[in-house]
Amino acid sequence: MAETSFENLLGKYQILQIASKIADERKEEFFLIGGFVRDTLLKRERNEMDFLVVGDALAFATELSKTLGVDKLTVYKNFGTAHFNYSNLFLEFVGARKESYSRNSRNPKVERGTLDDDLNRRDFTINCLAISLNQSSFGKLIDKFNGVEDINQKIIRTPLDPAKTFDDDPLRIMRAFRFAAQLNFEIESSVFNATKEMAERLRIVSQERTTDEFLKILASPKPSIGLKLLFESGVMKVIFPEIANLGGVEQRKEYHHKDVFQHTCIVVDNVASTSDNLWLRFAALVHDIAKPQTKKFIEGIGWSFHGHEELGARMMKSIFTRMKLPLTKQEYIEKLIRLHLRPIALVDEQVTDSAIRRLIVSAGEDLDDLIVLCRADITSKNPAKVNRYLENYNIVMQKVQDVREKDQLRAFQSPVRGEEIMRVCNIPPSKLVGDIKTAIEDAILDGKIGNNYEEAYEYFLKVKDHFLKDHK
Ligand code: ATP
Ligand code: MG
Repeated sequence: MAETSFENLLGKYQILQIASKIADERKEEFFLIGGFVRDTLLKRERNEMDFLVVGDALAFATELSKTLGVDKLTVYKNFGTAHFNYSNLFLEFVGARKESYSRNSRNPKVERGTLDDDLNRRDFTINCLAISLNQSSFGKLIDKFNGVEDINQKIIRTPLDPAKTFDDDPLRIMRAFRFAAQLNFEIESSVFNATKEMAERLRIVSQERTTDEFLKILASPKPSIGLKLLFESGVMKVIFPEIANLGGVEQRKEYHHKDVFQHTCIVVDNVASTSDNLWLRFAALVHDIAKPQTKKFIEGIGWSFHGHEELGARMMKSIFTRMKLPLTKQEYIEKLIRLHLRPIALVDEQVTDSAIRRLIVSAGEDLDDLIVLCRADITSKNPAKVNRYLENYNIVMQKVQDVREKDQLRAFQSPVRGEEIMRVCNIPPSKLVGDIKTAIEDAILDGKIGNNYEEAYEYFLKVKDHFLKDHK
């Protein structure tokens, strides 16, 4: 089954034929490998191809790029990789290698190796698939670790012993959760146990790499899949302890109520189902981050978390710095945390225009995002309640619109200006000028004339004598 579908696929990319001829001329084994093969089987579109050369990948990539007339080739001598872009494809070349690891770093000792060595060093069976591209075996699938079966079963397994896999390179723990979230796959139980065992090892991984994988989890279609794996494995405690602390913090007096971590997962998924904005998702993740610190039990009411929105906002500075998150996003996140309870407080009929105006000004251009977050924050299982709460936000947004319209009218002025009225009527600055202006404005507001200079001027000429006569 796999091979026929690959034949079609391979026919589609002329570049594979060209590269294949070069491989044969160079007498090097040559493969399409990793993510592209996996995603093709999953029918996921992608424009990135990874190639494996059993030999000199840099010389191979140089020769192929010349043949294709590509002049921008990027070479990483230290990593033995090269890449270039060609007709909307991102092509990456790596030489087959054998790796051995030491305990204190995720950078292995690397030597040239065979296809077999190279497959052994890869992270997951679903990523160990290779398609031979040499002429004699063009299109043949190499599946040393039953990756196709794992793709069909939607399962993440490591090719070798999982504990050793994660011990060698702990970033793979994050990658396992990331693939589980992106592809909606399960993690095989011995692999999951190894993530628990090796969670602490993530401390040797650079913050940039960990954060990068974490954000990919957040960007996936249903982020809670990854967030729960991070939490249950104990990895969250290592990489984002403030989120791990939300576990076990109950929300209401009834003991069966969702804890803050579970609630947060639903809010993130809710946002993810309506928006691809990664930072809005991040805001959802951290909106209740200060609940553990502000939690108090009030007899007869239940748990209260007074001030959690302000404290949560203030926690962002150190979190952004520590996790090397983009500082340009910090203010946005702080704002959404700080304001996430504000809109619901404005549902009341008694609410003044100025309270609404303060929300408009505080939220600024992020008001729509704030409302998406507020709506996502409704995680009740009772549909009647959900509808009522959602309706409340409609009411608030209606008020926002009303106030905006009123304010626009306040700023509105007669298109015929005071100076012109004085000049045409030959009168000095006086109340009369104001009265004429108001008459023009009223005519526009009453819909008697359009809001433009020509109609306003015509109307002005028509009514001016009436005003002047009264004042003579
Ligand atoms: P995507 O590009 O969609 O994230 P991918 O599978 O192409 O997925 P890459 O990070 O681009 O992932 O890596 C390409 C291939 O290299 C992987 O399929 C995997 O075989 C291997 N690989 C990448 N990182 C590691 C790692 N840390 N340990 C072992 N193998 C890895
Ligand atoms: Mg890739």
